[in-house]
Amino acid sequence: MATDNNRFQAIISHCKEYGFIFQSSEIYDGLSAVYDYGQWGSELKKNIRDYWWKSMTQMHENIVGIDAAIFMHPTTWKASGHVDNFSDPMIDNKDSKKRYRVDHLIEAKADELELAGKKAEADALLAEMDKLLVANDYDGLKKLIEDNKIKCAVSGTGNWTEIRQFNLMFSTQLGSVSEEASEIYLRPETAQGIFVNFLNVQKTGRMKIPFGIAQTGKAFRNEIVARQFVFRMREFEQMEMQFFVRPGTQKEWYEYWKEERMKWHLSLGIPKEKYRFHDHAKLAFYADAACDIEYNFPIGFKEVEGIHSRTDYDLSKHQEYSKKKMQYFDSEINQNYIPYVIETSIGLDRTVLMVLSEAYTEEDLSTAEKQDSRVVLKIPPKLAPIKLAVLPLVKKDGLPEIAREIMDDCKAHFRCFYEEKDTIGKRYRRMDAIGTPFCITIDKQTKEDGTVTIRYRDTMQQDRIPATQIRELVQKYIV
Ligand code: ATP
Repeated sequence: MATDNNRFQAIISHCKEYGFIFQSSEIYDGLSAVYDYGQWGSELKKNIRDYWWKSMTQMHENIVGIDAAIFMHPTTWKASGHVDNFSDPMIDNKDSKKRYRVDHLIEAKADELELAGKKAEADALLAEMDKLLVANDYDGLKKLIEDNKIKCAVSGTGNWTEIRQFNLMFSTQLGSVSEEASEIYLRPETAQGIFVNFLNVQKTGRMKIPFGIAQTGKAFRNEIVARQFVFRMREFEQMEMQFFVRPGTQKEWYEYWKEERMKWHLSLGIPKEKYRFHDHAKLAFYADAACDIEYNFPIGFKEVEGIHSRTDYDLSKHQEYSKKKMQYFDSEINQNYIPYVIETSIGLDRTVLMVLSEAYTEEDLSTAEKQDSRVVLKIPPKLAPIKLAVLPLVKKDGLPEIAREIMDDCKAHFRCFYEEKDTIGKRYRRMDAIGTPFCITIDKQTKEDGTVTIRYRDTMQQDRIPATQIRELVQKYIV
């Protein structure tokens, strides 16, 4: 059995080899922590986005979606606190000039200790780090790095600078003439697009509290440590929902959304034991509860989604900076108030990585006669890039014509793939490798009795069914 890190590397190679995820601008040696989705990766990503969108909006009558711009008025980020606070403590190695996020540097040391069988020491180190982070004690954190003899991976020395804050937002200029241009930011989260549209949506949609606004879209962060494939990117996509509630009811709604979101995760066919909740030790000063949903990636349990009870902080701040009233009149209790907010925020790219990590399976199919193996992506059919492969056994005898008829019957309903080249065994393996749940083979018998062979990806079982039943069968699995 491959070690987990080998498994992670195998998934990364598989993603590249089969057209899921490429390094951005690879022909120029790539751009660090930026990735492009290929032909099958973009289908998978879209299917996950659509599934999230449907479960949040269509399945919740009191949640509507929006699509706000990436550029926002710069005051947005003053009001939200990102200009002043969206930063992480960083430390530089004076010899290599390499910059590290302090928590990542210490966590890497803890991983090293754990691998060496020193779990208690690793836990103690992380507990001490948490304590110092909560207290913003930078001298203490630097001492912790020195006491634990943490070295730079590049220079191998422990010659560190002081710890400093480093803002993660990217900025650019709006306007063509430099004197008139104003500095604006690429949004580091999609949530603020929802807050600034709160009144627009509430009024035009005649929304009654409790209600939610959902949005998916790109976000940008100048991440310092960026070496975990699409887990940590500088340009990534978020799927966020802000749920506006009456003050005083936030605890119930926080619990509701924790449960609801976990149900969604389990509906991806991922077993319960691969997830855990992680309650935040350090709460933002305005938050009254926050937790992450973590998934057990090949690189360990890591955050996929955050659920935060954010009080009325964001709307109050926008009211203060914009001088526009962010109030809601609650006719049931005859009161005006600024609503409280529960936020669910999930990274789309991390979800893609989670689905791929769960799906990636190396199977040994050796028999007494011959050695054999396959790599199969057991992606849930509703998320699979291609649902059905249509494969005439041979390129002649009228079989391609029948296969084309089946394609015509199915392709308007779900994504199909036609292929007539190579042996059927090779074609099955290629479909396994990209996670196609159903393959249909058309052979001589099809001409005689109208039946085809259906092959199921996970079990490799083959059945004969009438060609007229294919569409309905596939549709049953992909809702
Ligand atoms: P982390 O602690 O891992 O940096 P975060 O707590 O800063 O994440 P949030 O600000 O809560 O993350 O963002 C919500 C979600 O957006 C995260 O749960 C994650 O799935 C996703 N996300 C955040 N940063 C990145 C990134 N750099 N690359 C990919 N996804 C990200």
